[in-house]
Amino acid sequence: MQAKKRIALIAHDNKKHELVDWAKYNADTLLKHELYATGTTGTLLEQMLNAPIHKFMSGPLGGDQQIGALIAERKIDILIFFWDPMQAMPHDPDVKALLRIAIVWNIAIACDRSSADFIISSPLMDMEYTPLLTDYGQYTSRKI
Ligand code: PGA
Repeated sequence: MQAKKRIALIAHDNKKHELVDWAKYNADTLLKHELYATGTTGTLLEQMLNAPIHKFMSGPLGGDQQIGALIAERKIDILIFFWDPMQAMPHDPDVKALLRIAIVWNIAIACDRSSADFIISSPLMDMEYTPLLTDYGQYTSRKI
């Protein structure tokens, strides 16, 4: 991945204030990178950062899956996902799928503010970095 990172940001409703507050605190750093978000989260972040964000559908309507598809295409480098640990969601399966595909492609993930702080303050944020990938040959050349 390049020095300029492609960062996806998502927050469940009870966590949106936390993500917006975190993004406000880290606005200067975030704005050096390319930002992506699910619909409602993206609208809030755009208003606060006063900068364009690539917005997808709202999470429950497929936004999480759209971001997951980009991760599988190696087009997202970092996922900041403040999911709500206290509430079940209609799109819980999408949340699980998103977190799974992020691990499959070994991207950096933060699901809480402390982890997001560690990622955003890492020297790797300003450097090129090559994530090591598991050998998925058994899946890419499967014979049945
Ligand atoms: P939203 O989606 O940003 O459109 O609220 C987030 C989610 O619930 O996954």
